[in-house]
Amino acid sequence: MELRCIIVLLGLSLAAAKLTGDTETDVDGGVDWDIFNINEAAGLDLLEGDIEQDESSSRNSIIGDQYRWPTTIPYYLEDNLDMNAKGVILKAFDQYRLKTCIDFTPWNGEANYISVFKGSGCFSSVGNQHVGSQRLSIGNNCDRLGTVEHEFLHALGFWHEQSRADRDDYVNIIWDQIEQGKEHNFRTYDDKTSSALGVPYDYGSVMHYSKTSFNIASEPTIVTKIPQFMDVIGQRMGFSESDLTKLNRLYNCTKSSTFVESCNFEEENICGMIQGPGNRKWEQLSSVSGGPQSDFSNMGQCKGKGFFMHFSSASAAPGDQAFLESRWLYPKPGAQCLQFFLHNSGAADDVLNILVRDSEGKLTLVKSISGDVTGSWELHNVNLDVTKKARVVFVAVRGKSPSTGGFSLDDINVSSMKCPQHIWHIRNITGLMATTPVGRKTYSPRFLSPAGYSFQVGVYLNGRSDRPGYVAAYFHLTSGPNDHLLKWPCPWQMATMALMDQKSDVRQQMNMHRMVTTDPNKMSSDGTEFYWDNPSKVGSKVTEPDGSSYYRGSGTGTSVFITHSRLKSRSYIKGDDAFFLFSLEDISNLLVPQPLPKSTASADDGLMKAGVQSAPQEAANNPVVITAVAGSVAAAMLVATMLVILRMRRRRQESDEVVIVQDTPGFTEERPAESSPSAFIAP
Ligand SMILES: [Zn+2]
Repeated sequence: MELRCIIVLLGLSLAAAKLTGDTETDVDGGVDWDIFNINEAAGLDLLEGDIEQDESSSRNSIIGDQYRWPTTIPYYLEDNLDMNAKGVILKAFDQYRLKTCIDFTPWNGEANYISVFKGSGCFSSVGNQHVGSQRLSIGNNCDRLGTVEHEFLHALGFWHEQSRADRDDYVNIIWDQIEQGKEHNFRTYDDKTSSALGVPYDYGSVMHYSKTSFNIASEPTIVTKIPQFMDVIGQRMGFSESDLTKLNRLYNCTKSSTFVESCNFEEENICGMIQGPGNRKWEQLSSVSGGPQSDFSNMGQCKGKGFFMHFSSASAAPGDQAFLESRWLYPKPGAQCLQFFLHNSGAADDVLNILVRDSEGKLTLVKSISGDVTGSWELHNVNLDVTKKARVVFVAVRGKSPSTGGFSLDDINVSSMKCPQHIWHIRNITGLMATTPVGRKTYSPRFLSPAGYSFQVGVYLNGRSDRPGYVAAYFHLTSGPNDHLLKWPCPWQMATMALMDQKSDVRQQMNMHRMVTTDPNKMSSDGTEFYWDNPSKVGSKVTEPDGSSYYRGSGTGTSVFITHSRLKSRSYIKGDDAFFLFSLEDISNLLVPQPLPKSTASADDGLMKAGVQSAPQEAANNPVVITAVAGSVAAAMLVATMLVILRMRRRRQESDEVVIVQDTPGFTEERPAESSPSAFIAP
């Protein structure tokens, strides 16, 4: 090749490698990896694909109490784990805490513990093997919430769903499509080895193989006897209802550690909620002439059901109030998340106050909501900070403007964990999917993290052109008001992109998650730029239709976020709407290796050990800082941005999702969310 050609080619490759807002990095290379593909690519040949166990010795993990862990399991995160994997593992623990009685605690010298490391794939033993350090691998591409839940379910004592004794009643194994030598992966265990715990076969289990596991070419190796379950098996979104039933039965769970309350107002006792003081009442209704015409839980689909609580501002006089108070709740001290759906068909100056009543009866205002008369059900996340028993109180206050409706409340959930920071409400998603071409990317509004970083998420609703049939999702840093005060390249911020499953009970919400973490050392492919540098330096200028502009950095995410068939399952779409939940959290505390128990380093007494462990325990349990309400975001930013805070103002007092910071360098042309022509704007 002539030198001139080489120079031209080099020039091209350098040009192509320069970072722009259109650069996209697929964390999984555009492949919807299942555990078995990952392990096969890594050259592993384990029992049933991801079980590290001597087959002959221990085939009865489910039966037999000796394989049980205590319900609080000691863990150790080995230092070779990727930062994103560490963050995802801690998020998976939160799911166990919310939905089961299983909890996790940093290893403090207990005889047996689970040591999580980065091996060459995703694998675990089944049950507590009493080996001291029982290792569980979260390798490359295993850092997904459902995958981590799956491996820990093995560790807790579960085999794969399709190895149940009764599986031949539900699926056909296509033996001649299985790779030679891999047939052993499709064995079943008799009911002396593995108990189904009285739960029917579950195609939707997170422990079920996918249809093409261990296949030769592209033909399935597993065919479900009920055809419509072909695209259900192999889900890695999270625990199914049956997974939870089985786990809770195996461990005799009666309650979870962080779930507090869920109410969809279907029962006449309205979950023990009471009408407090106030000259008006909330009513349990199934439709209101001024709207809504149906509830949120069932969307009016179930005859004789479908209730919500309504305050009629149409029939109230200015200043009238109605109190709706939860029964006494006993959350864990610390952060709590109150999640609910609100429909406002009243007047713009009607106000819904959310308060907390403490054990002495004192009321504290947490948040006021007004305006937002959208004529649709809107999701709200409100962070509470309760230390003892408390009631959550909804106080509707009638304004002066004319009203033909009022406030309606449905699907209330309280859990002892922080809320997601931001909500992106996508309306009319079915229509958008019908009209959005393959390869078109749509961006969320820009949001601010508690640390002050500005970001947005871009999605391809109908997939990238190389991956039609999937929704693709990419996280982008964007220019913001605090950029001159922030660290660049952006260090160790974990972005969570979650598509909400809008089931009314938070324990049944199987949100589809992807996390990506900013590595400040990551370079562009040509090695000339820091990948996570300031977007105004390594991004592209974006000009909005109204002439405002900002800079968008490169995208990191996946072209296989969720398949369209899964998107249409469960309640990802409800009333033709979808909700994305976003958080951007600082996980730099996970850079420090998890401390070893004092006892392994010296023979100090237990008191000393406890003292030494308390700090790392706290750090490991709270790796992240999440803040959802605008006030808290502003408060968090206050620390980092004393210089700009004076010029900040919150444009939308009522919104917990969008904080607009104006008149500061770098963010001056921010457009207000409500003025955008896009159908994708958050409420
Ligand atoms: Zn497995």
